[in-house]
Amino acid sequence: MQTTIQEKWLKRPLIISGPCSAETPGQVMETATRLAKTGKVDILRAGIWKPRTKPGLFEGIGAAGLDWILDAKKETGLPVTVEVATAKHVQDALDHEVDMLWIGARTTVNPFSVQEVADALRGVDIPVLIKNPINPDLELWSGGIERFQKAGLRQLGMIHRGFSSYGNTDYRNAPMWHLPIEMKRRFPELLLICDPSHICGNRTGLQAIAQKSIDLDFGGLMIESHIDPDHAWSDAKQQITPETLAELLGGLVWRNERTDEQAFISALTTLREQINQMDDELLTLLGQRMKIADKIGSYKKTNNITILQTNRWNEILDRAFQKGELLGLSREFIIKYFDAVHLESINHQNKVMNDPS
Ligand code: PEP
Ligand code: MN
Repeated sequence: MQTTIQEKWLKRPLIISGPCSAETPGQVMETATRLAKTGKVDILRAGIWKPRTKPGLFEGIGAAGLDWILDAKKETGLPVTVEVATAKHVQDALDHEVDMLWIGARTTVNPFSVQEVADALRGVDIPVLIKNPINPDLELWSGGIERFQKAGLRQLGMIHRGFSSYGNTDYRNAPMWHLPIEMKRRFPELLLICDPSHICGNRTGLQAIAQKSIDLDFGGLMIESHIDPDHAWSDAKQQITPETLAELLGGLVWRNERTDEQAFISALTTLREQINQMDDELLTLLGQRMKIADKIGSYKKTNNITILQTNRWNEILDRAFQKGELLGLSREFIIKYFDAVHLESINHQNKVMNDPS
């Protein structure tokens, strides 16, 4: 039985899966039927046009693959989604009854392309998911969403697929969770889903990233799946079989953002009140710390001493690392926190030093 995209669009969690790329008619059909059989997937994905970082890699099968996807949709009843990057892609996809579109990370970075796709969709009632740009630029991501809103599209969502960074990291694309969280704050009415496949770049990390996104109240997942992952024509290392996907989904703990259970609500309220109280105290202390920095600034000014003394800064950090370790605070947090406090302190001293009075 065919499910309409309208029925699926509001389902939470919304689960999207399918191959990174459509490769052959058989591969698309077999992936789709095996995914449908799990009963855990809502929408079938497949890349048709693949923006690859380097030439010479598989750049997608092109519009021919849309016929295979339409066949898979008819066979399984699953609504389907593809990535589009140009007005022509949009036209081809709509001509082949694609139910939902997504904008890839390499397209979101380019306002000309996003605008072209948004213009091509004027007056069309179709859900569109916008991936974060490859670089951690929230204005670019927000701007992309606004272009679709201005073109009159109402069913919009965001996909968090991580952000590229230079050098080796644990991730193919670092999750930088604070960025999607800020996007959720900016666009609370929009669906936000996570794409663990492109964050991890491997199979082993998928479950943990998926669980983390659920714990952060994301509304769904897009995970790549393939009937023969090792021999996939693109992103072979991160794809999993439909059956492994079902196991992964079955192992996730789904949480609710809210509950009506009174005992839980009052316990949470008490703990949050404690946090508010401590935040107030921390801010008061920070204000006092800056007042001392002002005093130091004025002594340094009188004695003609520079603001920054590297030894002192190292001393502060070393002390904090030692104390932080005992308190269960990570070095990463200590560095971020002291960088911010130190910068504020320098700004205060600078103001005092350069005050003409
Ligand atoms: C994809 O979904 O296969 C893809 C190319 O993703 P991204 O745009 O996130 O790199
Ligand atoms: Mn991919």
